[in-house]
Amino acid sequence: MNCSPGIHGQAGTMHGGCGCNCGCGSKKRTGQEGGKKGELSSSGRFHPVVGVYMITETLMELVLKRYGLNFEAGDCVMLSAGPYAQARPYSIASGIHDDHLRFLIRLVPEGQVTSFLKALKPGDTVFVSAPFGWFHPGVGLDAPFAFVATGTGIAPFLSYCRSYPERAPEYCLYGVRHLHDAWGADELARKTRLMLAVSREKRADVFYGRVTDLIPQIELQTGMHFFLCGLDTMIDEVADRLEARGVPAANIHWEVFFHAQPNQNEANCS
Ligand SMILES: Cc1cc2nc3c(=O)[nH]c(=O)nc-3n(C[C@H](O)[C@H](O)[C@H](O)COP(=O)(O)OP(=O)(O)OC[C@H]3O[C@@H](n4cnc5c(N)ncnc54)[C@H](O)[C@@H]3O)c2cc1C
Repeated sequence: MNCSPGIHGQAGTMHGGCGCNCGCGSKKRTGQEGGKKGELSSSGRFHPVVGVYMITETLMELVLKRYGLNFEAGDCVMLSAGPYAQARPYSIASGIHDDHLRFLIRLVPEGQVTSFLKALKPGDTVFVSAPFGWFHPGVGLDAPFAFVATGTGIAPFLSYCRSYPERAPEYCLYGVRHLHDAWGADELARKTRLMLAVSREKRADVFYGRVTDLIPQIELQTGMHFFLCGLDTMIDEVADRLEARGVPAANIHWEVFFHAQPNQNEANCS
């Protein structure tokens, strides 16, 4: 299940795919995925649940015992009820040295796997695949970089900032609908220059609008890289705006968590 390391999947860069389940090999930004939907995974093990914490009605944090699982910041695992049950990819939000595995999960109405995860209680078990992925934001990069996320797309960036606090991104742009959806914002604000965009709640103390609208405020640096994660439409729009500002396509990296549903044209709601 492991991909070869390194940054690939840059906008406009065609590569042949690596034979794993990361879904790479597509040229189109919206075609990038870190895992195939509905995949049945047989290699992995059961991890006990430490806690399920409801952040809002549709957002939760799942904490599992780590059992020594090794991963890199940005890696995903497939979560499921068992080795042959429906599995979905989730990005690990914990730091690489943390005791537990943490996941930030958006509950999807009638979602097969999220319904299972929501019902978990401490002591239950979740089947966790071997970690995989090609999206390792900022890891080992000898250049300035910034993160842009919508919703649960913040997970790989939380993992990075928890793993490498000494090498922070220049910016972390984070788009949510409501301020209470901005899980991890306080922690990120202590570690990097956090720019929040809240799209459905007007407040005096926070930018009202889409994360896309923050792009003009970024001070670009020579050779700067951008890592985008979350909803596909946000990724397309942000990448277009960055390219319009002169950022080379090869410096823009992304991972799609959710595809916009029909009538869902807001680039901020994963
Ligand atoms: C690489 C990768 C990493 C991911 N990491 C995370 C993560 O860290 N946290 C996280 O919460 N999710 C993450 N996802 C999404 C996750 O894998 C599942 O797709 C998601 O949790 C829904 O699974 P489900 O089985 O509950 O829903 P399903 O049973 O697959 O879908 C149920 C219904 O919900 C609909 N639906 C699907 N997406 C949406 C949407 N965006 N808006 C409205 N309706 C929708 C479906 O069309 C379907 O009708 C990631 C996806 C990828 C590809």
